[in-house]
Amino acid sequence: MSQSYPCGVRIGNGYDVHALKEGLPMRLCGVDIPSEKGFVAHSDGDVAIHALCDALLGAAALGDIGLHFPDSDPRYKGIDSTKLLAEVVAMISGSPSPAATKYEICNVDITIALQAPKLRPYIDTMRETLAEIMNIDKSQVSVKATTTERLGFVGREEGCEVWATVLIARNDIYQY
Ligand code: MG
Repeated sequence: MSQSYPCGVRIGNGYDVHALKEGLPMRLCGVDIPSEKGFVAHSDGDVAIHALCDALLGAAALGDIGLHFPDSDPRYKGIDSTKLLAEVVAMISGSPSPAATKYEICNVDITIALQAPKLRPYIDTMRETLAEIMNIDKSQVSVKATTTERLGFVGREEGCEVWATVLIARNDIYQY
């Protein structure tokens, strides 16, 4: 395959869903959200970070979160998903694999579909938390929240759905 790939900018998208259950903790974008319901998951259930990891891995064509952190592996039981994000950022930055193409993260846009609670009070902290983990500026990180007007599994408060889109650029071509 040709190595003279002309475009150094790559887009990625990620999607994840987690079920909600009463009495479990809710964490989104690394931020603990006071809520009657939380996520059923092998990890801490941070569905937003999982979608973001898949978007980053997808942009670099490095597989998906299930490939790198299988939920059958006891090492990842209850794991803080911010640690998974830090590992994914290291992967696409070319470290610890020096042979890999190195990318900068240009921007990230996340949409969280959740009926309750309202996430607006936490959005700024979510952006700051993600930016810090990814070593980028808060202005490069967008987090948006929506309800589904009580329609579907999100509307019935049975689960949360997240879409993430990222743009990355080869850092040997684009310098920031
Ligand atoms: Mg997940």
